[in-house]
Amino acid sequence: MSAALFLFALAGLAAACRTAAPAVVADLLIVNARVWTGVASQPEAEAVAIVGGRVAAIGTTAALSAWRGPATRVIDAAGARVLPGFNDSHVHFMGGGLQLDNVDLRQAPSPREFARLIAERAQKTPAGEWVLGGDWDDQLWDPPALPTRQILDPVSPATPVFVNRFDGHMAVANSAALKLAGVTAATPDPPGGVIVRDAAGNPTGLLKDAAMGLVNRVVPPLTPARRAQALTRALDHAASLGVTSVRDMGPDAGDLATYAEFAESGRLTVRIAAAPSELQWADQARLGIRRGFGTPFFSLGAVKGFADGSLGSTTAYFFEPYADAPATRGLLADEMIPLEGMRQRLTAADAAGLQLCIHAIGDQAISVVLDLFAGVAQANGARDRRFRIEHAQHVAPKDFDRFASLGVTAAVQPYHAIDDGRWAERRIGPARIQTTYPFRTFLDKGVRLALGSDWPVAPLNPLLGIYAAVTRATLDGKNPDGWVPAQKLTVEEAVRGYTAGAAYAEFTETDKGTLAPGSLADIVILSDDIFAIAPARIRDVTVRTTIVGGQVVYGAPR
Ligand SMILES: [Zn+2]
Repeated sequence: MSAALFLFALAGLAAACRTAAPAVVADLLIVNARVWTGVASQPEAEAVAIVGGRVAAIGTTAALSAWRGPATRVIDAAGARVLPGFNDSHVHFMGGGLQLDNVDLRQAPSPREFARLIAERAQKTPAGEWVLGGDWDDQLWDPPALPTRQILDPVSPATPVFVNRFDGHMAVANSAALKLAGVTAATPDPPGGVIVRDAAGNPTGLLKDAAMGLVNRVVPPLTPARRAQALTRALDHAASLGVTSVRDMGPDAGDLATYAEFAESGRLTVRIAAAPSELQWADQARLGIRRGFGTPFFSLGAVKGFADGSLGSTTAYFFEPYADAPATRGLLADEMIPLEGMRQRLTAADAAGLQLCIHAIGDQAISVVLDLFAGVAQANGARDRRFRIEHAQHVAPKDFDRFASLGVTAAVQPYHAIDDGRWAERRIGPARIQTTYPFRTFLDKGVRLALGSDWPVAPLNPLLGIYAAVTRATLDGKNPDGWVPAQKLTVEEAVRGYTAGAAYAEFTETDKGTLAPGSLADIVILSDDIFAIAPARIRDVTVRTTIVGGQVVYGAPR
């Protein structure tokens, strides 16, 4: 049922019994709260009444007491801050769940600890299975150095190991994995990828971007049981962080089947809007699936593509060379080669009514994607299509106005800014960092923002994302007043990006992102009032209660 239909039905019930009390009573009533609604006409309230999974009324605690019936569940928020549920506009949800299950190398501060963690996991891994995941960060090592198979082989000579950098753009394989994949000194670099080699020309085990596919294609497929276990872990984690909706980027058919199965059996506690790869756009188009198609819990109708790599892997595609690697400007993704193929697919996908979400990080990659979008709009005519550029990290000053005129949403991840901010200036120099993670410039230019995490590349916690956008305080503590502070957001702007902005970017703004009569009852109750405390404390704020569709999915009501 849509928001409008819901209100119409509710009005009918109320009209049937014109007494002082509403004819219907609330299933759930939140009282004594400080509700931030996101609605200009009534920005603050004390209470929310919920009927049938949607918000029925917003107002004062006294006024909404009329909605209380004998079976109404009442949550006394005791003055706590209440927001619309967080909508993370860019995650890899199944990958996040798998990460919660896989070896965790994120904190490994040295090659020695890296090897110890691999050894521990290899011993526990049954024959025929691989050691996967990892999310290592070479920048934590002193000095920073990229891992090689020489670290892995002694601790896992037989069990295949293939563990990725946290940004997903590089991974290192041991010799057992390289052998299964048939990668040798004679293997050429694939388009859009690099097989890193030693002085003698032998693979070091490190594979960049498209070259990772050489090994990935021999990794045994995930079983349905493993996917279900990962999804369950992802849902629990999201609920604990107040995440009530996600835009899931690049799921495969097995992921979609698992989401559908959970949706059907009522086990989804996060609303998933999926954007499978643009390479398979025709699968959706053939069936008439268009933007926003599906149910409030599981929808399709978008495609995700890649224009380039990442800053950390020096594969983000720039107009000018890297400051610390002057021989390269980065790489276009393999699906951009040839560009004409990408143009044809995106034009056809848009003509079929699918929403386009394209990963672009370097300034030239972003510029090329804007060219593609302009061409698509010209070819297919005016329409509410809501193009998205995912990450939009390093923007050429000349391109901001094109974001605005083409109606492109910048789907950005603030945590990356306080992470990359530790070393980005070394990599691209002082001029380009001025419009790096340029959240303020986007808003000033009239560009819509949808905030997110890119989990599991970064933590899923939206409060960390808001903290990052508001403080821009890098993780190394070296920029307490903000890295490129002119690009800071206010707390309210960041909250909007994580609620209404993300909802708009998935065509669901009439249902989600604000709290008003008719909205889906996706609500979060926080431990502290993020609008009142010092911004530096926002990262310590926790979620007390998470409500999805009127159901409490995390936390005990007071
Ligand atoms: Zn991503």
